[in-house]
Order: sequence, then structure tokens, then C-alpha cells
Amino acid sequence: MKWLFLLVGATLFYFWLKGKKQAKLNAEQATKKKVQQAKISEPQAIVQCQYCQVHLPKSEAIKREDRFYCSNEHTTLLDDQGWIGYAHWRLSPNQDQRPGGVSPDLAVIHHISLPPGGFKNQSCTHFLIDFFQNKLDPSLHPYFAEIADQKVSSHFLISRQGELIQFVSTQKKAWHAGLSSFLGRTGCNDFSIGIELEGDGESLFEEIQYQVLMRLSQALQTVYPKIQFAGHSDISPNRKTDPGVQFDWGKFQAKSGVALSKFPYGLNSR
Ligand SMILES: [Zn+2]
Ligand SMILES: [Zn+2]
Repeated sequence: MKWLFLLVGATLFYFWLKGKKQAKLNAEQATKKKVQQAKISEPQAIVQCQYCQVHLPKSEAIKREDRFYCSNEHTTLLDDQGWIGYAHWRLSPNQDQRPGGVSPDLAVIHHISLPPGGFKNQSCTHFLIDFFQNKLDPSLHPYFAEIADQKVSSHFLISRQGELIQFVSTQKKAWHAGLSSFLGRTGCNDFSIGIELEGDGESLFEEIQYQVLMRLSQALQTVYPKIQFAGHSDISPNRKTDPGVQFDWGKFQAKSGVALSKFPYGLNSR
């Protein structure tokens, strides 16, 4: 008899425990369902394409730094403020207005590296970004101490790894050419766009640098159809040698499809 009571007691306890567990499970499932429903009805974050201003859900947008784009195409074009979406935007204080609303009709190709040739051992692109932003630390290299006070900039820089960095809107004047003359017109900064290739004048430029330069040239031609191409050494022949003999003008012309007539100094290495 005693055993029977014990057995009934144990069975009742078992069912009570099981019931409690099930109640807990049911409660958990109900909460889960509520959260899911809340998620569905929660309004999606909406962002705007930097290029065309169309509104779209954040989950469908392409993100570049803190900007959003509706399509890959819209990251590759020059927007109405003179900026390219896929570039890293690093504003340089070394800029001013183009005189009298001049529209640029010349692209000047340069080379630069800091310290000169430093990229052969490690990535040195951040020194160039610092330089164009007046943040170069003169204590890091004897050469930096010589140049740290110079106030210069370029619209674009193409790193050895093919990153495109933009410092100045193409609608503004960057300080890249200095004393210069293009087919009789002096002060080339007024009407040109500066493109720096990370290089030292001795090393071959990287294939990816040509590819990025090609894409950039096409974007520039779309907005500025009259644009011509020259090297810094062409417009400042007694002062400058860049982009130098390692820059393959023929390859650039063939790859970019820019008309031959847009190269007034020809395609020979120089
Ligand atoms: Zn768009
Ligand atoms: Zn130059």
C-alpha cells in the first residue's frame, strides 16, 4: 500500500513538472513570435543615393565610407559636386575656386611617393594622404622635414594597390601644377585636374594603376568632353620630370580609348 502511494505521488510530480516546462516553452514561443512580428512591421531604414538622390532601403544600397549609392554604376561616375563615389574622400585644405567658373579641359598626370620609392618595402600611401592634408609628421623621415610645410594637393591619387583617393572636387582648383604652361595658357591649376600615380620615376607602374586611371579618365570625359591629357613634365618642362619614362602613354591611350587627338604631346615615353 505504502509503495502504491509513493508511486502515485512520483507520477503526479512528474506530470506537474512536465506541465510547468511546457508552459514555459509556450511562453517563450509566444515572445519569439511577437519579436518576429515586430521586426516585420518595423519600418526599413531608408537612405539616399549620393549620385542620383533616389531613396532606397538601406539593405539594398551600396555603401562607400559613410555614403550610399543605388547601383555600382553610380559609384563610378562624377557626381554633380565633382566627386567620385568609389574613391576614398580625404578633403585637402589646399584648394580654392577656379577663376570665373572655368570648366577644366586638361588632366595632368604626375607621379609622387613618400618617402621617394618607399612603397617598394611597405605601403606608404598614408604619408601622401597626410601630405595633401598638411598633416605630414616631419620627424618621421629627413625628407619629410624638408617638404612638410609645402601646401600642395591633387584632385586624385592612385596608390600602388589601385586605391583611388580624392582630395579636391573637380569643380575646385587643386594645387598640383605650380608654374606651368599648356599650349600657351599659363597657370594650369586654373583649368586642369591633377592625377597623381604613386611611383618614383624608376619603377614600372602597376597594371591596376592603369586600370583605375582608365576608369577615372572615362568618368572625367563624360563630364568634361573637351578634356586633354598631358604629363607634368610637358607643362613644366624645366622644373619637372614626372610622370617620367616609366609611364606608358601608348598603353594608357589604348586601354582608355581616349582619342589620339586628346594627347597634344604624343604617346612617346618621355
Ligand atoms: Zn543612384
Ligand atoms: Zn608633378
